[in-house]
Amino acid sequence: MVQQVATERTVEGLGVSSGIGIGFAYVVDSGRVRVPELRIAPGRADAELQRLRDAVIKARRQVSRLRGRLRSRARAMPQLSTEDFDYLLDAYLHMLRDSRLIRGAADRISRDRLSAEAAVQAEVAAIGTAFKEMNDSYLAARIDDIREVGNRLLQQLTKANPTPLSNVPRGSIIIADELTPADTAQLDPDSVVGIAAQLGGPQGHTAIMARALGLPAVLGAPGLLDIVRSGDPILLDGDVGQVIINPTPRSLLSFQQRQGARRREEKELRRLKGQPAVTRDGVAIGLQANVELPIEMDHVVEVGACGIGLLRTEFLFLSRPQMPSEDEQYEVLRSIIVRCGGVPVTVRTLDLGGDKGGAAMIGQFGESAASPLGLRGIRLSLARSEVLDVQFCAILRAAAHGPVRIMLPMVTTVEEVRAARDILGRAARRLLRRGVPIPSALPPLGAMIEVPGAALTAEALARACDFFAIGSNDLTMYTLAIDRADERVAHLYNPLHLGVMRMIEYAAATARAFGIPCSICGEIAGDPRFTALLLGLGFRELSMAPASIPRVKKRVLELDIPKAQERAKAMMNESDPLRLQMLLDDIRTPEAERDAC
Ligand code: PEP
Ligand code: MG
Repeated sequence: MVQQVATERTVEGLGVSSGIGIGFAYVVDSGRVRVPELRIAPGRADAELQRLRDAVIKARRQVSRLRGRLRSRARAMPQLSTEDFDYLLDAYLHMLRDSRLIRGAADRISRDRLSAEAAVQAEVAAIGTAFKEMNDSYLAARIDDIREVGNRLLQQLTKANPTPLSNVPRGSIIIADELTPADTAQLDPDSVVGIAAQLGGPQGHTAIMARALGLPAVLGAPGLLDIVRSGDPILLDGDVGQVIINPTPRSLLSFQQRQGARRREEKELRRLKGQPAVTRDGVAIGLQANVELPIEMDHVVEVGACGIGLLRTEFLFLSRPQMPSEDEQYEVLRSIIVRCGGVPVTVRTLDLGGDKGGAAMIGQFGESAASPLGLRGIRLSLARSEVLDVQFCAILRAAAHGPVRIMLPMVTTVEEVRAARDILGRAARRLLRRGVPIPSALPPLGAMIEVPGAALTAEALARACDFFAIGSNDLTMYTLAIDRADERVAHLYNPLHLGVMRMIEYAAATARAFGIPCSICGEIAGDPRFTALLLGLGFRELSMAPASIPRVKKRVLELDIPKAQERAKAMMNESDPLRLQMLLDDIRTPEAERDAC
């Protein structure tokens, strides 16, 4: 008998959660239940409505039980924050009460005489179409949540078995068309070693959940289910976004070596936690954290960040139809500040707009807020000064609990800073009159330098600001006219472009000349390849995703400032993109090679 040897196949996707997974495929049916569009006999509507109500109650119980199980698991796993799934499962429970989904399905039973299952299916589809037409990434993510709730109802109505994910064999790599966040939250990281799905993107809740569980994950990997069968050996690379099916011994060995090296590196990096980030010639570098969600705070503390250099407050506004109240904002900020235990927290005011526009908020602020050239960041806050006023009050109250700086996003003119300072002053005076405790000296007020016009007029801004933080992500987008959210021009997005670097250099030098602090908090601050260049340009404070801090610290410990300055000088004089890249990657140019001989 001839034995067939399976050939190695590779599927590319998006690496959304870092790490290497080596295991066996556990292919899950997405659990989606489809039902025929059945009509009911006249007079059966009440019975069908009752079936719908029963299914809602059972689905609610099922979600509550899932939440209880996850909470008890979280008690045993410190890295699993309850906030992630609490937030999500609360949203499911909310939808299982008086939501458009339930009301719509009930209407379809009474009006269109559909069976309960057909009514739920039709309503989910109608909401999905309506949301898609609005062409909004926030609503697109909500469609998944509505489908998940609809599916749970269909499972109850049809008695279909939910996908069993909580009890998979050890060493499983979950392979699916789509994994919902609730599916992901059920996974046991002791058994599962990775996740790959055909659908999903890096900003979705599934990706967030995978990162919270520390599971390597590749999403948006088309064609996966056409190739993979349960039990197939799989290699998964959550950094580059690669799934290898039936690997050759050579690929397996290479992944095992990388996994080993990664584990050794992580162990070594953990040892750096208590070590200060100081260059070989004794210059201290402040490595701070960028924080997008309060759930990241454990990680911020764990990596020993020396403060929060950028607290993106959008999370408070995005997943909801109404503005958060002053008290609510205060409570969240206070808990973050207290958690930081005396190290400074830079709170950025709302930077809604552009690709960060939540549909409900855009609904309130108008279409211009959806454009990166429209009513974004500080422009929006000044246009709706009552929103900024509430946010300032919350920040000022929270600042009574620890050191805080306030940072304005998307600043283009000095007038914007002055107007914001006036609103801040008025808010402070009002709080004082009411006897609300706030710090005696107002927190420093600074600007993000992320618009070319702001970078090039840094002198005027330096007179009006207490500090700068360079937002290289947007500065690159606006300088090069490349939409950072458009994957079709992603290959042209280059923060190393001299046009961008010269603006960064100029703004940082201007801040030094005016004696105000200047940090950098765009993605390049967390990329160790940029560390020498940034230190050479004079930065002494870098703010980055908490996970990047150990690797950047390792780089800082290897560098000394005069060499970094030399490197920066060479780079700022180099106009050839290839040579520039070589200098960044620490590869010697042919001339340097010759000089060294
Ligand atoms: C930036 O633009 O570099 C930045 C840090 O802000 P955000 O990525 O939130 O726009
Ligand atoms: Mg920005």
